[in-house]
Amino acid sequence: MAAGWIPLDTDVTWIHGSASRRRRNDPHRSDPPQQVHHLAPGTVLIRQSKDVTYEAPFILLLLGERRSLLVDTGAVEGSLLRETVDRLIAQWLADRAQSHDSGHHELVVAHSHAHGDHVAGDAAFADRPHTTVVGPEVADVQAYFGIDDWPRQVVPVDLGGRVVDVFGIPGHEAASIALHDRSTGLLHTGDTVYPGRIYVGDSGALLDSLDRLAALVETGAVSHVLGCHVEMTNRPGRDYALGARFQPDEPSPFMTPQQLLQARDDFRTVAGRPGIHRFDDIVFCVGEGPRVTVPLYAQALVERLRHLVR
Ligand SMILES: [Zn+2]
Repeated sequence: MAAGWIPLDTDVTWIHGSASRRRRNDPHRSDPPQQVHHLAPGTVLIRQSKDVTYEAPFILLLLGERRSLLVDTGAVEGSLLRETVDRLIAQWLADRAQSHDSGHHELVVAHSHAHGDHVAGDAAFADRPHTTVVGPEVADVQAYFGIDDWPRQVVPVDLGGRVVDVFGIPGHEAASIALHDRSTGLLHTGDTVYPGRIYVGDSGALLDSLDRLAALVETGAVSHVLGCHVEMTNRPGRDYALGARFQPDEPSPFMTPQQLLQARDDFRTVAGRPGIHRFDDIVFCVGEGPRVTVPLYAQALVERLRHLVR
């Protein structure tokens, strides 16, 4: 661990859905709608429930002295996330007994990328005072963060007392960004690197993005790698079926820097080859054709039938 990193408490059991969802309004659905976990003071990770959305995305909140940065608004519409973020910011400011006017604390709502399961809660923040909701397109992201040389330019974002470096990592989606929190060493990789199925829209772009992520890791500046989902099981190379609502044997959403380097090396061997490519920690789904969709839907159908006869 590099000197000076604020340690993260990553040893947490996350909500992962509930066993029985056979019927509508199933009384056995037992997950709360979301789980809020403080990784460190000022660093909060929220997971939405698989009982609410099979995507069950993770949402990161980084709190600073002057402003806070919310990475994604999840897969669910409504006010719950907004209320949670409001409460977390109010608590953060109260705990620190800010002498300045905390009413002016700014919130930036940014997105790991533009897909629907990461922006669904945006509307609840539209009328929030002192809040900027960054748009979903590459041009919006460039304009807000001041990234002139997309995607390579690394732009520091000063939240007050902590600096987050932002740069583009297209490949999964055109507007994908990575965020590196210098204070904790946390590298947020969105849907570009996580223990699950990485859908690759542009292999060349993803290779370049993974090379730049790997280069950052190789400087020793990264403590943990965090993406937005978990879809693997604890068995190497085995993922839960598409749409799975119950994942009792899932690994941690946190990956090691070494796992990111391995993901880059693995992807190099399959880039540009349409189909599903399984590795221990990640499944790369290259392209959008039947070579990807047919096996995924077949796997999901088998799981569904298995569930029905259980
Ligand atoms: Zn996603």
